[in-house]
Amino acid sequence: MRLATPPIGRRPPWWFYLLLPLFHFASVKLSFFCAVTPENEVVVWLPNAVLLAALLRFHGQRAWLMASLTFASDLIANLPEFPWPEAVLLCLINIFEVGATFALMRRVGASADRAGVQDFVKFMAVGPLLSAMLAGFLAAAILKSFDPAAGPLLALMRLWWFGDALGLLIYTPLLLAFLRRADEAEPMSRFDWAVLVATLLLAGVIFSARGSAVSGLPATPNLLLPSVLYMAVRRGVRATAVAVALISLATAWVLTTGRDPFGGVAVYLAIMRAQEFILTLAILGLGFSVLLRELKATEHSLENKVKERTRELEESNAKLATLSTTDSLTGLANRRRFDAALADEWARALRTGQPLALALLDIDLFKNYNDCYGHQRGDECLARVAASFSHNIHRGGDLAARYGGEEFAFIAPATEAEGALRMAETVRSALEALRLPHDGSPFGIVTASLGVAVITPSLGTTAEQLLKLADDALYQAKKQGRNRVIQADAETVTDRGLLSSDRPQA
Ligand code: GH3
Ligand code: MG
Ligand code: MG
Repeated sequence: MRLATPPIGRRPPWWFYLLLPLFHFASVKLSFFCAVTPENEVVVWLPNAVLLAALLRFHGQRAWLMASLTFASDLIANLPEFPWPEAVLLCLINIFEVGATFALMRRVGASADRAGVQDFVKFMAVGPLLSAMLAGFLAAAILKSFDPAAGPLLALMRLWWFGDALGLLIYTPLLLAFLRRADEAEPMSRFDWAVLVATLLLAGVIFSARGSAVSGLPATPNLLLPSVLYMAVRRGVRATAVAVALISLATAWVLTTGRDPFGGVAVYLAIMRAQEFILTLAILGLGFSVLLRELKATEHSLENKVKERTRELEESNAKLATLSTTDSLTGLANRRRFDAALADEWARALRTGQPLALALLDIDLFKNYNDCYGHQRGDECLARVAASFSHNIHRGGDLAARYGGEEFAFIAPATEAEGALRMAETVRSALEALRLPHDGSPFGIVTASLGVAVITPSLGTTAEQLLKLADDALYQAKKQGRNRVIQADAETVTDRGLLSSDRPQA
């Protein structure tokens, strides 16, 4: 879930305390401006959303200061309309409504930062539904007690409740959206612009019509609902909140002009119809945009999870591939990798016409070594021989491998007989120089014999022949007294195959 980064910190900056009461005062005046009856019955009561958004945005920090400031601005703005004891009580009810909404939102865990579908539903339940209803009930009682001639108690309550509820519902998300960074929206397409222009035209026609009809054709604000839904899909929460707020303000204002956008009905009925329309608009528009944002966030996090899992899988596949081609005791390439490399290099040498060198190394009298020192020391010795071996096969393209048991091999592409012999001799003398004690050997130290072979592959020759040559040479090295390098005679390979293949098997 993506968290929006707020443009201002967790604590309100100093100017916020100036702006808050001013903005609050203006919202009271705007609400009264859109009031329909001389008793100041309003369609939508904005100011409570101002305090609630401030409390939510700053997580209740300096709540008392914010509440006192807005109480003061509420009172000053209300005094011309109500006698002061009544104004004080009504302003207290507003503070109660916002405080209750904020406290209950905390209680039920509705987060304004996350602002997901669940948060929206919880906010709806504790704010517009519960707190606004309680406030409506208290306010109706006060209005009735100060002016017994005011309308029926339940009608007063319903008006106040819906007015406050709509204000919270529409303006809290709007104000919060502007106190935070906007969602990423795609750029406006041509069709988006066309829809916007058409909507503005339609709104102009609807709000300037008299008696909810244009040239005799019925046209109520309900016609704007599809545009708001389109906006929710295409433009995200903030733009939808703006659209809902503008349309609801326009609806409230049009009621004051006597144009009867919902048909020629009594003023109370007109207000209620307007409120019902705005309620539908807000819940569908905002709910839909919040739902879509959440779906997108879920999709995004799923995509990330899949990417992460794919990466892990690739990593472990690579590890597995390395493991399956590496000898665990010596860390050298294993027989499987050696066989594959030999086939590849053979094919390449056949293409390029370059010679391919191969050497087999066999530790001398290693059986005796195991007998003298035990298998574990034997393993340690193998690892040291392997390290020395691979240390001396370092040219890029060469491969050092454990061929099996106490036998090692190297492949050296594009290497002539002379070079291969030198490499093998380097390997042998390096091992000798290590002077690893070997009591079971006449040399007294660990030594190795090597057989080297070089072939320039041609059609009719095979990699197996190269191996066989090296193996024969190794056999000769053993036979001639061990701890030496013998090079196979390349002339023994002809197009008809190997001539000297009379080596007895060990
Ligand atoms: P030669 O000089 O003729 O090669 O004599 P050798 O004793 O080395 O010859 P042979 O091939 O008969 O014996 C090889 C020995 O290497 C037998 C086996 O116990 C030992 N060996 C093979 N693989 C391992 C291994 O992984 N660890 C240990 N410790 N010993 C091994
Ligand atoms: Mg052997
Ligand atoms: Mg051996």
